[in-house]
Amino acid sequence: MPSSLTRIGLVLLVVFLLPAIYYSFRELQAVKESELMIEKIYNDQLEAILFSVNQYSEDIARSWTQDWSWIAQDSLVDDSEILNQFFDENYAISHVFVLDSLSASEVTFYSNEGEAYFSNYEQPVLSLIREQQEGLARLYPYRESGYLKIQPIASDTSSLELLVFLTETGPQLYGFVLNPEVFINDFLGPRIHAIAQEEFVISVLYKTDDFPFYTTANSPKKGMWPEPQKSLWLFPDYYLTIRLEQQKQPTLAEQRFQTNLFLIIGLNAILLLGAWFVYRTIKKEIELAQIKSDFVSNVSHEIRTPLALITMFSETLMLKRVKSEEKKQEYYRIVNHEAQRLTSMVNKILNFSKMEAGKHHFQFEPVDLNVIVATVLESYDFHLTNKGFSYAFHPTEMELTINGDRETIAEALINLLDNAVKYSEEEKKISIRTGINEGYYFVEIQDQGIGISEANQKAIFEKFFRVSSETSKQKKGTGLGLSLVKYIMDAHKGTIELDSSPKAGSTFRLNFPIRYRVGKLIAN
Ligand code: ADP
Repeated sequence: MPSSLTRIGLVLLVVFLLPAIYYSFRELQAVKESELMIEKIYNDQLEAILFSVNQYSEDIARSWTQDWSWIAQDSLVDDSEILNQFFDENYAISHVFVLDSLSASEVTFYSNEGEAYFSNYEQPVLSLIREQQEGLARLYPYRESGYLKIQPIASDTSSLELLVFLTETGPQLYGFVLNPEVFINDFLGPRIHAIAQEEFVISVLYKTDDFPFYTTANSPKKGMWPEPQKSLWLFPDYYLTIRLEQQKQPTLAEQRFQTNLFLIIGLNAILLLGAWFVYRTIKKEIELAQIKSDFVSNVSHEIRTPLALITMFSETLMLKRVKSEEKKQEYYRIVNHEAQRLTSMVNKILNFSKMEAGKHHFQFEPVDLNVIVATVLESYDFHLTNKGFSYAFHPTEMELTINGDRETIAEALINLLDNAVKYSEEEKKISIRTGINEGYYFVEIQDQGIGISEANQKAIFEKFFRVSSETSKQKKGTGLGLSLVKYIMDAHKGTIELDSSPKAGSTFRLNFPIRYRVGKLIAN
């Protein structure tokens, strides 16, 4: 049996678990890959949003340079009204400066107050222009090829943010001195808000500052500035970042991956449970088949012995080979005894199958447990003493009236007494007790026999089950006795308690619910 069970276990493993494990592994890989792909698409989308914000700021800068080109070309720099209008409309520009050429050493400033000299700006602007000379020199060839490039310049030392550009003709370099705070808050802000809506949080960070310089978040916090980050084209020291409004760490893709992981683990657990359940059911079926085949061989053996004896002694008697009357009587007794044994065994099997099929009709009536026990012991007295047993009956003084079926209760007691006889060795003592305990009247049969190990104590009430120890196997039996007792007790809504340990004897206690007190029915 173990080898066929191992085989079934292996088949289950190969058929169910290996494909499941392989599938899960593949699935997890696929899930991870698709999550990565989703994350990439999502990041690309975020980058596209940031790109559009940048594009918008470039569009604004371009319109400024066009406005100024028009003012410069038409020599309107001295027209205070026009200058005022320009600075009023584009108030993120604090000053405009003009250099005659890239190598010029003088710079002219304009503000909404017209041409002016700004001593604190001149030197820093000139030194920045010199620093960036190489890059700015390229503006000319760009213009040649038809592209008016606008060059942003940020200063590390003077916190100046400049935009330098050329107009369509002339060697002059023009530049805007910008106020990033005003630009970001007033010019870019509304646009950023329109894009972000309720869905995203878009923020502007300054260099490595932890707290956002500008953000659409309702309650901005320090940190938590994920990729992607894009430097603001107009102000290279400022960075744009974006994330989903509701998103917390871990990222959305990670959350989805975790959900899928849990689902796959759950699925595998269910599959494992299923495989284990199938394995257990098959194991039980195999054990039952084994037990049934043992039962058939036990019963056949038990039937054959008395039949052989009956045949032998009845033939001897028929052939009149026995002369002495005494011997004849002895042979008659043997034939009768063996016939009774057969009858009782066949009855046991028939009763069992009737009860199992639920076809046995119980005749419930008020019966006194003490009386039933006494009657059984009276008819069993000869059998017990014949087998060398001494027994003691300790009835409680009270009348133990229950609603019971006299015959089946007697049958249960006989089965227990039979077992006490069968499974006792040197100590041939049985004690029978009746009493009251927590809503029950009980009968208890105690022997000093071989006892039952803890592991077998539940199984012995299952049909056909017999303990497989050597001492138990030597005794004849069908494995039906205790299941019959259990059926009988179930029918009486009673319970069986067993107190036993190997070599220390066993006590079987039958508990019957109390239905009568002093002859009166108190419960159904
Ligand atoms: P059977 O006695 O025909 O085998 P039972 O259903 O009456 O079947 O008992 C089931 C098993 O329980 C027995 O095979 C035996 O091993 C064990 N058993 C029952 N009663 C006793 C007892 N009083 N002492 C020790 N073992 C017992």
